[in-house]
Amino acid sequence: MPVTSNVAWDQRLETFKGRDTSGFVTLVAAMASACAACGLALWPKESLSLIVDITEGRDSDIEYLTVETCICHRRCREPGLTLRTVAGAPDELKARGGRLILRPRDSSGTRAVPVLVYTLVPVLTFREHGGELTSALVSVLLSHGFQLTLSTDYAQMLRDVRDVQNSVRCTVTEQGLLCLLVGAEQLSSQQFHPTVAGDAAWLQAATREGKVLLISGDYLGITGGGLNLDAAAALGSLVTGNVPFRA
Ligand SMILES: [Zn+2]
Repeated sequence: MPVTSNVAWDQRLETFKGRDTSGFVTLVAAMASACAACGLALWPKESLSLIVDITEGRDSDIEYLTVETCICHRRCREPGLTLRTVAGAPDELKARGGRLILRPRDSSGTRAVPVLVYTLVPVLTFREHGGELTSALVSVLLSHGFQLTLSTDYAQMLRDVRDVQNSVRCTVTEQGLLCLLVGAEQLSSQQFHPTVAGDAAWLQAATREGKVLLISGDYLGITGGGLNLDAAAALGSLVTGNVPFRA
């Protein structure tokens, strides 16, 4: 059983992740803060297990692969890998999102920049005609003017970010339902409560700026405690773009 740092994993994972497997294991483990089996916090150097569930599907010439991971104490669960084959493309993807306000400072004072965070779980990749595995979410976003970013530094992200194509937009209803649209497709919706101070401040900032910064990609760590972009950046799946906002 291979062990990377303190994390044991199933050798068969190499078939899917190739030479990058140990790097992948380290990044996934770094995002976990609690054991998926017992729920207790993880401490440095504890023996851990990586559990991976992979679903393979095929739709004519396109092969799909979803990868779900979790980290447990080794005493709670041994490492493992399950592989499931389904007909057609996987349809059990769930959107996960969050929002925050960045407050960069420049010569004219402090600005409030509204940020939306969006990802899909499990991570969906696909390949055509036996080619390279490609992230479905990242390739859709890149085709609408988003860009890959290697930096998790918000100041640098704000300096480098570009406006996306006008096929992407963010709208909010009078009832506070915020929708993110890409082409004809609604990618996500989040309920805002305009009477709650934090939500009101976010909506005000978005109205004033006329755009929101979307941070997206695979392997985003979104928890109640904050946002961890390290794995996404290291795996080359962190994507950003300025999306027009219309109240
Ligand atoms: Zn545990």
